[in-house]
Parts: sequence; structure tokens; C-alpha cells
Amino acid sequence: MKRKAVFPGSFDPITLGHTDIINRALPLFDELTIAIGININKKYMFDVDTRIRMIEKVYANEPKIKVISYTGLTVDLCHKLNIDFILRGLRNPADFEFEKAIAQTNRKLGNVETVFLLTGPETSYISSSIVRDIYKNGGDISDLVPKEILKIINQ
Ligand code: ADP
Repeated sequence: MKRKAVFPGSFDPITLGHTDIINRALPLFDELTIAIGININKKYMFDVDTRIRMIEKVYANEPKIKVISYTGLTVDLCHKLNIDFILRGLRNPADFEFEKAIAQTNRKLGNVETVFLLTGPETSYISSSIVRDIYKNGGDISDLVPKEILKIINQ
């Protein structure tokens, strides 16, 4: 049976922190679905189609990766797509506390196991919100995001 995982998140935009987790997860799974969760109460900087396009561009040559968007519960998405694992990245104790409750809930609610990878030291400080702040204020984000998306961001 194929080992399938979903990496859910906002990816607004995808950063080198995300790609660090994705690249290190690739050897662990046969298929990795990057799933952009849409929350109608949240305001995003990049629309969902642009965020999908960015990730597809970064992983254009990686057949194991699929990119989708979804609404609703991540466990429901897992059941629909026959996915057994949720992938999440951990940067700090705050991430851990937050993720712990969600992972335990997802296991109880949907019998889905969450796999955590610890951030690499070079990318642990990177977050999409920092990238958005720098970008909005005209700063240089080229060390924080994959080079493939710079063109799309500046369009
Ligand atoms: P969410 O709004 O669900 O947190 P994000 O797009 O911010 O969506 O993050 C998606 C996942 O990527 C989360 O598991 C988050 O912890 C992880 N992540 C984000 N930035 C980093 C980073 N610098 N290092 C490791 N993991 C990260």
C-alpha cells in the first residue's frame, strides 16, 4: 500500500521553512499532498490560485507531490483521499503546544496519525507572516522563499 501524507497549511506564501519540511518528508512517503486550507474568516495576501501556482512551480519536477486546496476538517480530507498521515513542522514550544492539541484531536476524531518534523536551524525563524511583513514594506525576501516563486510574487 502507498504511504500517503497531507501537509496542510496556509502557505501564504510558501517559504524555505515549508520546503525544508517538505524536502525532508519526501523520502518518508510515496505521495505528499500539499493542501492549502481555506478559512473564510481569514484574510490572505495571495489568492489561493496564486499560492497553488507558486508551490507547483517549486515542485514541477517532483512527481510525488500534489497541490490542492480544501475547506473543512483536515481529517475529512484525509478520509476522502485515503491519506493516513498528516505532516506538520515544529519550530518552537508554542508550535508544539498548539500542534499537540490538534494532533490528539485528529487522532481521536479521525484515527489519523500526525508526523512532526523539527525545523532545520537555518530556517527555524522563517514564517509566512514575517515574509508578508517584509514584502509589504518593500524589503528583500529572496533569502526566505524559494527562488522559483520570486517572479510570481513580483508580478
Ligand atoms: P498554518 O496556518 O496551518 O500554520 P502555515 O502555512 O503557516 O499554516 O504552516 C504550515 C506548516 O508549516 C505548519 O506545520 C508549520 O509549523 C510549518 N512551518 C512553517 N514555517 C516553518 C519553518 N520555518 N520551519 C518548520 N516548519 C514550518
